[in-house]
Amino acid sequence: MGQTLDGTAVGIGVPRVVIIGAGFGGLRAARALANAPVNVMLLDRTNYHLFQPLLYQVATAGLSPDEIAYPVRAIFRKQKNLEFRMTEVQQVDLAGRRLLTNTGEIPYDTLILAAGGETNYFGLDSVARNSFGLKSLADATRLRNHILRMFELAAQESSPEKCLAMRTFVIAGGGPTGVECAGAISELIRLVLAKDYPRLNFDDVRVILLEGTGRLLPGMPDRLANATVEKLKQKHVEVRFGAQVTGFDGTQVTLKVQDAGGAVPDSRNETLPACTLIWAAGVRAVQLVDSLGVKQGSQGRVLVNSCLQIPEHPEVFVIGDAAFLSTNGDGSKPVPLPMVAPVAMQQAAVAAENIQRHLAGKPLKDFVYKDPGSLATIGRNAAVARLGRWEFKGFIAWVLWLVVHILQLIGFRNRLVVMINWVWDYLFYDRAVRLIE
Ligand SMILES: Cc1cc2nc3c(=O)[nH]c(=O)nc-3n(C[C@H](O)[C@H](O)[C@H](O)COP(=O)(O)OP(=O)(O)OC[C@H]3O[C@@H](n4cnc5c(N)ncnc54)[C@H](O)[C@@H]3O)c2cc1C
Repeated sequence: MGQTLDGTAVGIGVPRVVIIGAGFGGLRAARALANAPVNVMLLDRTNYHLFQPLLYQVATAGLSPDEIAYPVRAIFRKQKNLEFRMTEVQQVDLAGRRLLTNTGEIPYDTLILAAGGETNYFGLDSVARNSFGLKSLADATRLRNHILRMFELAAQESSPEKCLAMRTFVIAGGGPTGVECAGAISELIRLVLAKDYPRLNFDDVRVILLEGTGRLLPGMPDRLANATVEKLKQKHVEVRFGAQVTGFDGTQVTLKVQDAGGAVPDSRNETLPACTLIWAAGVRAVQLVDSLGVKQGSQGRVLVNSCLQIPEHPEVFVIGDAAFLSTNGDGSKPVPLPMVAPVAMQQAAVAAENIQRHLAGKPLKDFVYKDPGSLATIGRNAAVARLGRWEFKGFIAWVLWLVVHILQLIGFRNRLVVMINWVWDYLFYDRAVRLIE
């Protein structure tokens, strides 16, 4: 007979571990439980695993959606102790140990909550309504259609002001997503679309990257962050620091700009005519966790103990973007771990191991994050990479970025097709997926 994590016996032979989310964390946890004496039920609202780091390439016409997503059922074809269900979890009943979903109730003995994050608009309603987030395949396709449509409309527009607004692309947020997006949009426009629209003036096309603080790429050393700014400028991206978006109505972005130049920092409001605002300035835990009624840290992430459990509900593990764990492990200095794939995957391995340790009557293990470093690409031949004590920039970092991303993609076919696409685009300065759907 199996046991739940707080020691009470479960009625039927094998305990049921339910995992919410087939993202980076959920997938790794499900695989790690392949040989455990448990039944695994994996739930996701989509029927595929999405490789979010390449979403911006779908948005900028480099890759098509099916090349960065893979069906969950195909991944787990051979795992005998796993059942997958496509369903949206609407509520977690912690007291009753059951999930309320759009296809019915699902009981659990142990739960791994790996539902990830969502775009955080910080209460800016007009931005939420009119800007473009980048969190799902639908977001990426919508943005690709919009960028391409702007050039079709600009080619027919008689008002110079409107035409300029259509050809101004503003990206908010100077983290890796904002940087990668800005570089890729600029290259799409100048290397590819300029050839498609010979009658359109491309000299005054603007790609503007706004960052509220004074530097790009938190988590990267200053040297690499500064090199990124220089490279973006070479790629015709305007980088503005101390600029916070306060609103966007679909035709102009309103900003609060901090001028740090004088003795006393001064702030002023500014408007920027633009029909496109891409919001890469914030992420928070999925709203599903707000209804749990347990303590949450910054960005709505659920506070977990060092073994990744909700303290009052040890049968529930929370991992990845949805979890808040301070780096020192005891919660005294709550510096949250970054919302990145390696955190989710390493936590998944520890949560799965702790479930097996519990079943074997062994003490649970503390989670300790091993930072593998970080990478960001700025476009053709340009990237920055921090791997342990090593720092790389330029072509070497770019090749590293390509190799790491190809290796992490799921499915041989996806790897091959993405590689062929990248080689083609590199050689012929092309983007294959320039369709407005
Ligand atoms: C554009 C972009 C670029 C990124 N680039 C990088 C990068 O270069 N490197 C890096 O390390 N990280 C990157 N990240 C962050 C990384 O993708 C996340 O940290 C990682 O995906 C978190 O893993 P997770 O398992 O917590 O959640 P996710 O991978 O987001 O998975 C969550 C899963 O839960 C499902 N789900 C959510 N709610 C429900 C529900 N109610 N019911 C059923 N299913 C649900 C979702 O469909 C999803 O499949 C990027 C993120 C984005 C958006």
